[in-house]
Amino acid sequence: MRLVCASANPDKVAEIQELLRGVAELLPRPISVGDIVEDADTLLGNARLKARAICVATGLPAVADDTGLEVDALGGAPGVHAARYAGASATYADNRSKLLAALRDVDTAQRTARFRTVALVAYPDGSERFAEGVCEGVISDRERGSRGFGYDSVFVPLDGDGRTFAEMSVDDKHALGHRGRAFRALAAAVRAN
Ligand code: IMP
Repeated sequence: MRLVCASANPDKVAEIQELLRGVAELLPRPISVGDIVEDADTLLGNARLKARAICVATGLPAVADDTGLEVDALGGAPGVHAARYAGASATYADNRSKLLAALRDVDTAQRTARFRTVALVAYPDGSERFAEGVCEGVISDRERGSRGFGYDSVFVPLDGDGRTFAEMSVDDKHALGHRGRAFRALAAAVRAN
């Protein structure tokens, strides 16, 4: 099966490519398609917007994911707005700094958080398949590790051994991470289609 990858974020494309190896051949998003405005207020809504736009533009099935980070001590923020937490043109580093500053006086026990990913395939006949993956964890008190992207260096998964995602190999991150869980479930749903 061939799927067009609707993501324009090279960090995410690399992870999706790895996770769909042996399941689907991933075609790059055509450069002729402009930015897709992700203005839905849910992860499912944004994943659907991206996948449907690329499916319509190419006439081929398209896959997208949308990920949020829910921090309990911040009432679930940054949530679906994780990319823009520190402002419209914020860098990954800006977002991490704002998060660590917001949690400066919060105890370890209260630093619980989760990554949530919705992965979705949109088909040309208008149908779709989607799946969710959740990874529970805590926000560390400082950045640790240099791998990964986004909030990886401040997120310690509960099912792990105390390392942040940025201290793990890609395979270890995918084994227990949100995107790995979502795409394994999506692959099963697509195969059963
Ligand atoms: P998106 O809306 O799915 O592109 O993700 C929103 C933001 O969440 C990204 O800009 C990253 O900052 C962050 N993010 C998404 N996936 C991950 C991940 O696997 N690890 C760390 N941060 C992530």
